[in-house]
Amino acid sequence: ERVEVCEVIDEVVDMLSLKAEQKSIGLSAEKDGPMTMLGNRDRVKQMMINLVDNALKYTEVGEVNIKITSTGNWIKITVSDTGIGIPEEHLTRLFERFYRVDKGRSRNQGGTGLGLSIVKHIVLLYKGKISVTSNVNAGTTFEILFPKDSEQ
Ligand code: ATP
Ligand code: MG
Repeated sequence: ERVEVCEVIDEVVDMLSLKAEQKSIGLSAEKDGPMTMLGNRDRVKQMMINLVDNALKYTEVGEVNIKITSTGNWIKITVSDTGIGIPEEHLTRLFERFYRVDKGRSRNQGGTGLGLSIVKHIVLLYKGKISVTSNVNAGTTFEILFPKDSEQ
């Protein structure tokens, strides 16, 4: 199935804009025009929901920004927030099932710790790559690369 990534992201923004509004957090998406990949639309959407849901959940002030750009044969998606951040020692285990960063701070949020393991699973399924950078009390950015559909 050919998936138009920017369309999916628009739907995710629509879906989560109320949650952002309730916390007074800005939610925006910057797009570079249509970009298609091969995959299952619902899976790609679920992946984006999990990332944006986290960004909103672990941010108290500021904004969540999604960016879709094209780099060579890859579609690059970034989800950035201005939230609580993730201490470096947790970054390597973040994508494990049930793993949650739980030391103090505002970690009394509900959740099972499955969201990011599902994200990673979907990224690998479509031969993509994922990386994360974070600064405590400043914010977090997840970057995903997916191979472009060569037919476009
Ligand atoms: P679930 O997604 O299953 O409802 P969850 O959000 O706790 O629960 P994951 O989405 O897998 O689980 O995230 C794992 C952990 O990584 C979270 O518990 C949180 O500590 C940390 N985390 C994930 N995204 C962010 C983010 N954007 N900012 C800060 N911490 C994050
Ligand atoms: Mg989550």
